[in-house]
Amino acid sequence: MQLFDTHFHYSGEASPAEYRNRILADALGAGVFPETLELNAVGGDFLESLRARSFAHAVPDCIFSVGIHPGSVERFSGNISDFETFRDDPLLAAVGELGLDYFYAAETAPRQREVFAGFLQLALEWNKPAIVHLRDQGDDAAFKDGMALLQDFTASGGRFEVHCFTGDWKWGEKILELGGYIGITGMVTFKRAENIRDIARRLPAERLLLETDSPYLAPVPYRGRENHPGFLGLVAAQVAAVRGMTIGEVCSLACNNGRRFFGVEERQAQILKKEDFYV
Ligand SMILES: [Zn+2]
Repeated sequence: MQLFDTHFHYSGEASPAEYRNRILADALGAGVFPETLELNAVGGDFLESLRARSFAHAVPDCIFSVGIHPGSVERFSGNISDFETFRDDPLLAAVGELGLDYFYAAETAPRQREVFAGFLQLALEWNKPAIVHLRDQGDDAAFKDGMALLQDFTASGGRFEVHCFTGDWKWGEKILELGGYIGITGMVTFKRAENIRDIARRLPAERLLLETDSPYLAPVPYRGRENHPGFLGLVAAQVAAVRGMTIGEVCSLACNNGRRFFGVEERQAQILKKEDFYV
């Protein structure tokens, strides 16, 4: 099976090689044989972005992304220019994670919008897609504010995904209209998450991405435990069940979508060119 976890966070507790071995072992334990394993290590603050970069350079088939998670805006210096250090890295795939979280951090909403807008601008300058986190308190405010910013972003040529989508189909449709992709996490296996299974069912095949958002949101039957990309097969299994597909079909579909969204092939070609140069 082709596994591509398009969104996980690396804590740095285990070495990159150990962590990757654990992913492979646990994937096998969960009954999924990973023929290929691709990863996107995501940074939600500056330090985590540095860690994501080192991880990506230490293991095969890994890209990384850099940004400020809405829950981290309070601790952010405000110097987006600090992130210039990542700009020319051949493994840099996207700007993110970014966005608005009015569920856990409503008190910093104005600051979140400012930082989000600043990083969307950066994504345009760097010509990278954006990984967006949107979560509201059930009043749609984060979606309304977020979609307004994303509308301007896409009008200027920006591309984005809403990762770990937790809204309903009404917002799902708006994301799709703007050309956005949607990331499905282990929440799709949670008993009460009927809205997420609904999204997973209705989503056009070419916009579906799979992710674990590790170390959070471990899928059933590991819910509450530390998550990691080895459990991606369980997310794929639930998506396969609601879409009437096999796990293998869902995995290769999502893998191809991820490769297209993050420009994996173009990046590989660039890296090969650079290697030719040095030979
Ligand atoms: Zn995340």
